[in-house]
Amino acid sequence: MKLANLSDSFEINQAGHLAIGGVDTLKLAKKYGTPLIAYDVSKIKSKIKHFKQAFIEANVPYRVVYASKAFSAMAMYQLVAQEGLGCDVVSGGELYTALKGGMPPERIEFHGNNKLPAELEMAVDAKIGCIVVDNFQEIEFLDNILRAKKSSIAVVLRVAPGIEAETHKYISTGQENSKFGFDVHSGQAEKALKQLIENPRMNVKGVHCHIGSQIFSAKGFVMAVEKMVSLLHEWYEKYSFEAEVLNLGGGFGTRYTEQDQPLPPEVFAAKIITAVKEKINAYGLKLPAIWIEPGRSLAGEAAATLYTVGSRKDVEGVCHFVAVDGGMGDNIRPALYQAKYEAMLANKPKALQEQIVTIVGKYCESGDILVQDASLPITHPGDILAIPSTGAYGYTMASNYNRNPRPAVVFCENGTDQLIIRRETYDDMLNCDLGM
Ligand SMILES: *Cc1c(COP(=O)(O)O)cnc(C)c1O
Repeated sequence: MKLANLSDSFEINQAGHLAIGGVDTLKLAKKYGTPLIAYDVSKIKSKIKHFKQAFIEANVPYRVVYASKAFSAMAMYQLVAQEGLGCDVVSGGELYTALKGGMPPERIEFHGNNKLPAELEMAVDAKIGCIVVDNFQEIEFLDNILRAKKSSIAVVLRVAPGIEAETHKYISTGQENSKFGFDVHSGQAEKALKQLIENPRMNVKGVHCHIGSQIFSAKGFVMAVEKMVSLLHEWYEKYSFEAEVLNLGGGFGTRYTEQDQPLPPEVFAAKIITAVKEKINAYGLKLPAIWIEPGRSLAGEAAATLYTVGSRKDVEGVCHFVAVDGGMGDNIRPALYQAKYEAMLANKPKALQEQIVTIVGKYCESGDILVQDASLPITHPGDILAIPSTGAYGYTMASNYNRNPRPAVVFCENGTDQLIIRRETYDDMLNCDLGM
């Protein structure tokens, strides 16, 4: 019988309960109900600090851009803006939320493989920092908008460098057959560069690549740096193109379970910086600003989701199910990517783990599993169960499947808690439902 695994990185308070940001999770569950996503704000700030630290120590121009699809909420944009970060958005909705949350427009970059003309127009009107152009159709859409508005904008060219990250195929994005970006190998990227250079309405600031997500080692990033910088060298020779920005994307791994051992943020960043400097110097190019786009590595480990234990089903010798009051509607990742999590009982996080159970949700799907083979103490209805590391791609992928309202989200820091997204109500879900 072992102790809860990830609990070592959590606070246990004097009552023996799990605490988040100094707040007792049982109090949180009582005050706001469950399911509840509770962030420890100091953990977000600490990740940001560590990413920045490497750049400050190396004294290189940089920008840390929060990939906001990991957790998009007005308070989150406000927080990362206060910490000096920019953000990337991938839709009009994220852009709208970022602006409402107070992110300065010049620090926003817009990503995506099918940005709609209306979304591009919104970005141009808001005067955002740059658009990461992804394909030829988009260049045409954007050009039409800029002509009509007699306007111009900074763009960054997204390149698919032909690198396969060692991760799940749904979150691997740098390979040649990716739906994202201009492929280098076939000459698409170069053709796009020429179009952009010739276009007086688009100021090509630099290049971008994103090789995938949940990456644990720096190897893929170093390979990407080598490819990207040799491309910059080639483009400098051919077109005298000098990139102001080399954006290497995100995907820095997060610790979802004890088995996950990603490099710490400052080590990832330091290895990237070293690789860029070496390669840039070898070619005698001017050092561009190095941009990175962490999403899950900023938000993921900072939150735990709290659920209330409900019913149970035991099939002796086969399996034991413990059901909670949420599930795939607030965390689709296990069903979508076979993502793994751990679980602990918030009311007794250090109790002996006497059973191995499958934690399931309340949704009408057999795939509605949150944790397979969770080691837990014996549970009882009404116990509060915590699943750590659910701060990224949980709420943002949430749905109203089975007409379950989406959970509430709370920010906790120094013993205080602040509701940042209230729980959805049944009426909220009927807002757009007009009847006949
Ligand atoms: C999703 C994404 C990120 C962030 O990925 P994480 O795994 O959350 O760090 C960064 N950049 C781009 C272009 C992305 O699509």
